[in-house]
Amino acid sequence: MIVTPDIEAIRAFRAQHAGTVGLVPTMGALHDGHLSLVRNARADHDWVIVTIFVNPTQFAPHEDLDRYPRDLPADLAKLEALGVDVVFTPTPDTIYPPNFQTYVTVEEVTQGLEGAKRPTHFRGVTTVVAKLFNITQPDSAYFGQKDAQQVVVIRQMVRDLNIPVEIVVIPTQREADGLAMSSRNVYLTPEQRQASIVLRRALDQATSAYQAGERDAQKLATLIADVVGAEGLAELDDVAVVDAGNLSAVEHADAPLLAVLTVRFGQTRLLDNALLPPELNTREGLTGTLGAG
Ligand code: AMP
Repeated sequence: MIVTPDIEAIRAFRAQHAGTVGLVPTMGALHDGHLSLVRNARADHDWVIVTIFVNPTQFAPHEDLDRYPRDLPADLAKLEALGVDVVFTPTPDTIYPPNFQTYVTVEEVTQGLEGAKRPTHFRGVTTVVAKLFNITQPDSAYFGQKDAQQVVVIRQMVRDLNIPVEIVVIPTQREADGLAMSSRNVYLTPEQRQASIVLRRALDQATSAYQAGERDAQKLATLIADVVGAEGLAELDDVAVVDAGNLSAVEHADAPLLAVLTVRFGQTRLLDNALLPPELNTREGLTGTLGAG
C-alpha cells in the first residue's frame, strides 16, 4: 500500500497503472461506515485510492477542526487489511497553498438543512472534493448516505460541471443499538451515548407512521421532534422531511422522502436520516433510483 502526502506521487501512480480507480474521500478516524465504502470500491475497481484529509475549509471558526479525532496508524492498518492500493494524506498547505483563491459553490441545494446551520460548510466540501477528483481522476467515488445532503450537493456539482465520475452511495452503517457510526461519536459521554439511540428511535417511528400511510411531511417531522423532545439529554437542533431527490420542501408526497434529524448532546451534534420508503435504502436504490433524477 502506497501512503503519500504528495500530489505528484498520485499523478505518477495514475500514469503507471492501467485499469479503473475507485476513490473514497474521508477525514480519517475510520470506522465501519468508512470501511463499507472502501469494501464496495475494492469489489468494483482495479485500484482503490482512499484520501484522509481533515479539510479546514468545511469547518467554521467555532467548530471542532482542532479537536477532530485523528489516528493515522490505526487508519492505515484498517485500509491495508482491506487491500487498499493508495492512501493520499495531504497537508492543508498542499491542498490550499499560499494564494489559493478558487472555490466551488453549489447554490440551491446547499441553502437548507445543514447548509442553513453551517453556511460555509458545503463550499469547503465541494471545493475539496473537486480537487480530490482532479488529483486522483477516479472512475467512481463512494459516499455515505449518512451525509445525505452532501450526496445531493456532490451529485449536483458533478452534473453541473460535467465531471466524469460515477457517484456511488452506500447505506448508513450503524452500531448494534442503531446509532449511526460517526467519527464524532467518541465525543459522547457514556450517558449521552446511551441517550443517543433516540435519533434512530425517532426515525424508526416516522418510518412506521409512513408505512401505516402517513404522507404529511409536517406530521412526520413533528412526530420525530416529539420523540427527541422526550429524551432529557437530547436537544433537538433540526428536523425536516423533504423530497429525497432534491431536498426541496414537500407538504404531502408520494415521491421518496428524506427525514433528516440533527440533535445536540452537550457540544456534540449528531446527524441521522431515514429514507421513506425504507426499501430504497440499498446501494442500488441510493445510487440508481435517487441518483437518476
Ligand atoms: P467523513 O470522514 O466523516 O468525512 O466521512 C467520509 C465518508 O464516509 C462520507 O462519504 C460519509 O458520508 C461516509 N460515512 C460516514 N459515516 C458513515 C456511516 N455510518 N455509514 C456509511 N458511510 C458513512
